[in-house]
Amino acid sequence: MVSVTLHRARHVVPVDRPVIANGAVAVARGIIREVGRFAELKHHWRGPVLDHGEVAILPCLVNAHVHLEFSALKNRVPPQSDFPAWLSATLAAADRLSPYEREGGLEMGLRELWRFGIGLVGEVSNTGLSLEALKQSGLDHHYFYECLGFHLQDDGPLARDFPIFLTEAALQDPHFSAAAHAPYSVSPALFRRVAAWNRRRGRPTAVHVAESAAEVEFLLTGRGFFRELLQARGRWRDEFRPPGVTPVAYLHSLGVLGADTLAAHCLHVTGAEVELLAREGVTVILCPRSNRHTGAGQAPFRQFRQAGLPLAVGTDSLASVEDYNLFRDLLLLHQDFPEVPGEELIALATLGGARALRFEAELGSLTPGKQAALIGVTPEAGPDFWAGLLSGGAAGRIEWLATPDEEGEA
Ligand SMILES: [Zn+2]
Repeated sequence: MVSVTLHRARHVVPVDRPVIANGAVAVARGIIREVGRFAELKHHWRGPVLDHGEVAILPCLVNAHVHLEFSALKNRVPPQSDFPAWLSATLAAADRLSPYEREGGLEMGLRELWRFGIGLVGEVSNTGLSLEALKQSGLDHHYFYECLGFHLQDDGPLARDFPIFLTEAALQDPHFSAAAHAPYSVSPALFRRVAAWNRRRGRPTAVHVAESAAEVEFLLTGRGFFRELLQARGRWRDEFRPPGVTPVAYLHSLGVLGADTLAAHCLHVTGAEVELLAREGVTVILCPRSNRHTGAGQAPFRQFRQAGLPLAVGTDSLASVEDYNLFRDLLLLHQDFPEVPGEELIALATLGGARALRFEAELGSLTPGKQAALIGVTPEAGPDFWAGLLSGGAAGRIEWLATPDEEGEA
C-alpha cells in the first residue's frame, strides 16, 4: 500500500484556492494527493503526520528571471540613480571577475536560491556556464540561452553565430530556449532569428524590454548612452535607422511578441502598449527590487493588473539585488501597491512563474496531482496574515518541508 504522509500546519496556502486554517497536504510518492482541513484529511488517509506547527505551507517559489552566471557580483555593484550608471558599473565589475570567481558565484547562487525556497528558475545565460550546474543541482529550470548581436544584421540559421543551438541539450530539451537580450543589443534580424528558432519548436522566448529611459531614447533617436556603448564595444552599425517608436511597439513591429513571449521589466510603456501586451498575451516578468537598484524606475503594476496581463516575478541578477529572496520583491510590491491582495502577490511568485516557464502541470500550486515541493514560512505576528507572511519570508524564515525526490523514496 502506498504510504501517505500528512503535512499539517496552522495555515496552508494552496494558491489556486483560499487559505486553509489548520490545514494539511496529503503526499504520496512525491505527489500531492489532497489538500484541505486537517480535521478532514486525517480521516481520509492513514500514515505519518508531520505537524509543522505555526508555519504556513506554500508551494515552492518560482524565480522567473535570473542570471546565475552573475551571482559572483553579489554586493559588488552598489545601487545607482540611473540605469546607464548601473550598467557601466556592472560591465566593469563583470570584466574584473576571474573564471574561478564566476564558478564559485554560480555554486553560491544555486545554494541561495534553494535556501529561499525557490524550486524553479527561469535562467537567462549568455555563456552556457550555468547549464551543467543547474542540471546537477536538481532545481527545476527553463534555460534561456541569451543572444546578443547588434552587429548581426543578416538572416541565417541561429546556430551559425551561436553553436550551442546545435547541441543535444538545446535540441532535445523542451525547457531550453533562445532568448534575445534587449532592443539595444539585438539587431532586428537577430530578433527574428531567435523568435523563429523557438517557434519552430514551440518554445517560449525571453527578452528584456523597456527597462530604461535610455533604451527609449535610443529607439526614438538612435542616440544617447546605448549608441555610445555600442560604439565603444565595436558593435555599432552606421546603417542602423532608429525605428522612432517606443520599445514594446518596436518589438511588435518585428513580429516577435506573442503568448510565447516573456518580457522582463516593461517599465517605459504607454497605455496603448499595455493594451498591446495584453492582446498578444505576453507575460510580463516584474523585477521590482532590481528596477529600484538600477535606478530604472518602477513598472506600472496597476495598469498591468487592470489590463489582465499574465504576470510573474523574478529577482534578476545579484548585480542588481542583494539576494535571491523573492519574498523581498513581493514585500516591496506590497509596500508600493498596498491595494493588491496578498494572495495575488504570492501567485506571482508561484503559479504565475510556473505558467510562464510551462511547469504549471507540476508546480506553482498545492493541487492534487502536482509535485510535493512544499516550503514552510513562519509569518510575523500581526493582524494581517498576508503582511505577516511576506515579512516572515522577507526575513528569511523559510524552510523546505518536502521535495518530490525525498518523498518519492519514502
Ligand atoms: Zn535580466
